[in-house]
Amino acid sequence: MSEANPERAIDRGEGTEAGRSAHSIHFDIFTLFPSMFCGPLSESILKRAQEKGLLSVALHDIRAYTTDRHHICDDTPYGGGGGMIMKPEPIFRAVETVLTGPPGWQLAPEDAFVNLPPWDPETPAPLPAEVPIILLTPQGRRLNQAIVTELSHFRRLALICGRYEGVDERVRTQLVSDEISIGDYVLSGGELAAMVLVDAITRLVPGVLGYAEGAQQDSHSPGLGGLLEGPQYTRPYSFRGEQVPDILLSGHHGHVARWRREQALLRTLQRRPDLLQTVNLSDEDRTFLRRHGWQPEMGEGEQERDADQ
Ligand code: SAM
Repeated sequence: MSEANPERAIDRGEGTEAGRSAHSIHFDIFTLFPSMFCGPLSESILKRAQEKGLLSVALHDIRAYTTDRHHICDDTPYGGGGGMIMKPEPIFRAVETVLTGPPGWQLAPEDAFVNLPPWDPETPAPLPAEVPIILLTPQGRRLNQAIVTELSHFRRLALICGRYEGVDERVRTQLVSDEISIGDYVLSGGELAAMVLVDAITRLVPGVLGYAEGAQQDSHSPGLGGLLEGPQYTRPYSFRGEQVPDILLSGHHGHVARWRREQALLRTLQRRPDLLQTVNLSDEDRTFLRRHGWQPEMGEGEQERDADQ
């Protein structure tokens, strides 16, 4: 895990009241490009989650928290080199103002730049310990379903989106409590990464998905014990010469469940044999996998080659 400010390190929620009961979730997102979020938030599951009162998102324009004439949010790096770095003051001011205000508070558009609540650049504001302040960065904890589940236990999360060459280091050392990467590649900004987080977390909030068990049966999820989900079919029965496996039409729930388990095992063996090392496998699972070439003692590359044959 990345070393975000240890003073801001927080209880990850599993054992808290919020971690146990049904709840709605609120995101405060700090960005230079708030309108990037409009599309994802106004369609499908995220739209319905907001309509049901299970999700709320407040978009905070970091630039609105500048008071200089040109509303500057970035500057050249000390020590030289190309690119620009996001300045600390607008980020600190935005985050500290919002998180010390009442939940859901947002700066009115007409107050941007000119009518900001008082803020002291030298004195850290008392931030709420129960709200993780997450910096999206390619240097953070690499996101997976376990981290998504952990974060879904919180009721309120703050997400900071970087731009340019990233944020001034003091944001990391003094403001954030967690750093998340959505993968080992570099985006132009944290906005898309924040959207990924909002989507993945929100679908775990009870009541958000129409078919609640669905989220438990997805790849990487607890219902499948961390396996990948096997193949799925819907009508028509026959399409371009390929038929739905007859077992799915048998009406025998036990046989269908076993077939699905075996397909999930097989798919995981073929695509992500590394995952099998942490999955809880029954003796029956192990026998099945061995029949398909699984050799737990084998290295990952060899396993993949074998399973594909
Ligand atoms: N210079 C930075 C570095 O090497 O770590 C990368 C800066 S990147 C061009 C600009 C911003 O995009 C970052 O500050 C971060 O907010 C976001 N970003 C880029 N890749 C990301 C990733 N894989 N996961 C999360 N955020 C990412």
